[in-house]
Amino acid sequence: MKIVAAKKILKANDQLAEENRRRFTTTGVYAVNIVGSPGCGKTTLLEALFREDQARWSPVVIEGDIASQIDAERMEKVGVPAIQINTEGMCHLDANMVAAACQAMAFHPGNWLFIENVGNLVCTSGFDLGEHLRIALLSVPEGDDKVVKYPGIFQRSDALVITKIDLLDHFDFDVQRVTDDLKSLAPDAPVWQVSARTGEGISQLAEWLRQQRT
Ligand code: MG
Ligand code: ZN
Repeated sequence: MKIVAAKKILKANDQLAEENRRRFTTTGVYAVNIVGSPGCGKTTLLEALFREDQARWSPVVIEGDIASQIDAERMEKVGVPAIQINTEGMCHLDANMVAAACQAMAFHPGNWLFIENVGNLVCTSGFDLGEHLRIALLSVPEGDDKVVKYPGIFQRSDALVITKIDLLDHFDFDVQRVTDDLKSLAPDAPVWQVSARTGEGISQLAEWLRQQRT
């Protein structure tokens, strides 16, 4: 009985996600779901991307957090319209929350919608939000064993972005190991290496993101 109920909820989420995706597509909006653990650098990566060339992105952002408006304020500080979702304890965003947030936003054709999920390597992977692209972040300080330990999220993402690579000299983090581990889970997903602090790799990632929007 409980299993049936869980399936039902997920199916409802999948249907809502499809509606979100259809709405994004028909309004000319391209949606990217950004997942990763707390502190892996999701907000900081967005800031770095927008610093690179904000006019080309024409971005709008949904920030998902359990509490606080810190991240939405950071977006507004760099001139990007942002809506904050506070999940009040819920450890992931779902399609319903995204749909509600979108009602409060003004979209224009050409917009990129970046949805920063709640920091979580586990259940965020099970909830389609209606995005066109999902990217998973893994920071160097988290350790190079995380792809093996949390396979679901990396398997269900379109790319892996290794963040904070300016710290590689200070941690035993084997980029090759992570790349190999990902290859066995998601053979087609590219691995990007970036440092928002130094700017290394940001323009390459930006270029790849733009290529996905076709
Ligand atoms: Mg954040
Ligand atoms: Zn959750």
